[in-house]
This record gives sequence, C-alpha cells and structure tokens, in this order.
Amino acid sequence: MKKFFTLLVLASFLSLGLFFVFAPGIVDKGQNIVVEHQPYAISPQAAELHSSLMIGDWHGDSLLWMRNLSERYDYGHLDFPRMQQGNLGLQMFTTVTKSPSGLNYELNQADARDDITLLAMAQRWPTATWTSLTERALFQAEKLYKLAARDPDNLMLIRSRMELADFLERRQSNPTLIGGLLGTEGSHALDGDLENIQRLFNNGFRMMSLQHFFDNKLGGSLHGTSGGGLTQFGRDAVAEMLALGIMLDVSHSSEQVVVDTLAITDKPLIVSHTGFQGHCESPRNISDKLMQQIAAAGGLIAVGFWEGAICGNSPATVAEAIVYGIGLVGEDHIALGSDFDGSVTTSFDGSELAAITEALLQANLSEQQIRKVMGDNMLLYLQTYLP
Ligand SMILES: [Zn+2]
Repeated sequence: MKKFFTLLVLASFLSLGLFFVFAPGIVDKGQNIVVEHQPYAISPQAAELHSSLMIGDWHGDSLLWMRNLSERYDYGHLDFPRMQQGNLGLQMFTTVTKSPSGLNYELNQADARDDITLLAMAQRWPTATWTSLTERALFQAEKLYKLAARDPDNLMLIRSRMELADFLERRQSNPTLIGGLLGTEGSHALDGDLENIQRLFNNGFRMMSLQHFFDNKLGGSLHGTSGGGLTQFGRDAVAEMLALGIMLDVSHSSEQVVVDTLAITDKPLIVSHTGFQGHCESPRNISDKLMQQIAAAGGLIAVGFWEGAICGNSPATVAEAIVYGIGLVGEDHIALGSDFDGSVTTSFDGSELAAITEALLQANLSEQQIRKVMGDNMLLYLQTYLP
C-alpha cells in the first residue's frame, strides 16, 4: 500500500513536471498564430524601400510568454532574429497583467477568473506575481532588462530622448539594433495605488494604457459593463502619468474615457493597437469621430494586424486600413500597432513586414507616406514626448 502511494505521489509530480515543461509552449502556440501562407512576393522596389525604413511598432505582448527573445522560434510572432529580418527597429513591449476568462469584445466582468494568474503559475513566475498585477508588469520589464544586458548588440532599452538619440546613433554602425520601450496594457497594473505609477516609471515604463478588457478603478473599458468615463482615481492617475512624462494609450478604453482624457490633457494620446469603425465595423474599435479628435490633438493611431481590428489579417487588409486611416485623420497620425504575441491570429510574423511595404506601394501610397506610417511618425512622437 505504502509503495502504491509513493508511486502515486511520484506520478503526480511527474505529470506536474510535464505540465510545467509543456503547458506554456502549448498555450503560446495556440494563442499567437500565424496562418499558413505562401511566402509573400516582394518587388525589388518594395525591398529597397523597406530596407531603408525606420520601422516602429506600438504594441507587442511578447514579454508575456516563456520564450527567450534572443532566439528564433517557429511559433509566436516576435523574437529578435525575426524582428531583424523584418527590419523592425522600435518596439513598444506592452505588459499584460490581467485577462478575464471568456475574453470577448462585447462584455467582460471585472471579477471573472483571471487567465494570467494561471499563466504566471504555469510559467513559474515569482510567487509575488500570483497576487500582484504591479509585480506582473515589473517581472515582464525585468525580462527586457535582462535581455538588454545579455544581448546588447541586439537590444537597447529606450527610456528617454537621450537614449533614443543614442540608439539612432548606434544604429548607424549596427543597423539591426532593436530599441525596446516598456508599456502597460491596462492600469489595473497599478494595483489600485497611485504610487505605483512612480514605481513603474522608475522601472522604465514610458507608456500606460488606461484600461484593458474590463472596467477598472480608473474607468470603463470598451469591452466592460459600465461604459463609464474616468473616475476621480482615473483623473488623478492621468495627472500623475502626465507629470512624469508617461505616454497615454487609450486603446481598449470606453469612448467616454477617451473623451474625458482628451479634456484633461494637452499631451497627444496614442491608440496603440486598433482599427477604424468606418473601415471595419467592430466592437473593438471606437468611433471615427473620436479618432479624428485624437488626431486633431496631435495623437497617433496605430493600426493592428488582426481580424478583430481590421476585418481581415492579410498585408493587403492592413494596407487598406492604413489608407482608410490616412483619409480619415491624415498621414501624420497613422502608425503600426501589430498586437503581435497578443493572442491574435495574423497572416505574417515580425520577419515578414516587407509584405506591408509591398501592399502599401500597391495601394499607391507615396514613399513619404509609407515612411511616416511605418515608423517615422512613431519616432517623431518619441523624440518629442519621451522624458
Ligand atoms: Zn490589447
């Protein structure tokens, strides 16, 4: 009998061990899909233009997963080798800290079971991250710091205008150097405490989004239950972020939160990953009218690469959404916001961004327009608004 129990205990440890070894990769592969496709045909003209671009992406969730980004993987969307192949120079690494189970674009309860808790355990994150959302953001940031320290020829952290200038200088002699920035996805990452804004800032965070899929202490989500605007706590948080020089991202925020935020800030807003209602009628997208107000105040609207935002995921659809956006808000206000590794299905990964340049040329955009949306607009924003 005793032997039986010993065997049973051994067997459970073994299966638990196997769970920790295999579950994270299985989840990652199942969530961050690239649909099978033929290689994209890139004309010599597109290839030449693409290699001369400074490309920037406002939204990638790659730090959430158990991948060493210095190595190339055959699943997920981003790692340094694939980013370098795609000539991706500037990447905002957004940190996801809570994700209600049964995620949808219509209605999510704030108290639904949180899938990130399970992911944190399955990926053996430090126990502090099991209960604190701030710790989850900090842990993901630490991953980026370690990567930059271990792999300085491929990744440099950018936290200030000075570091950005240094990055541009270093890229002259090292053209595949990647500049990484840190952002949050949803300010529930503050754990309800305004002092955590300073703490996250001290740890390199330079962009904060206000909401994610559910209403939080700052206000309503576009996919929450209240549709509410900024709360007093939300207003205080925005004021503190602005005082520190943190960029504000309103993707996933309710329309009322966007209106309220526009009313209390002079600093242009970012919509870090989105589509346009007029191009793709989706509960994921806020109204075109609000997009115009964001742009009129100097903001940037970063176009996503997945179905829920742009009603398709081909390079041609991305180009279509960008062309629509330029028509709506002008070429100075459009950027890229892939949502790579954000549990979305795309038809290309970070190594295949030349397919977008090709599609933009096919859509008859000028070289100058392509330069702006692919990265120059993002670069100019960072040069203007980083601390
Ligand atoms: Zn998102």
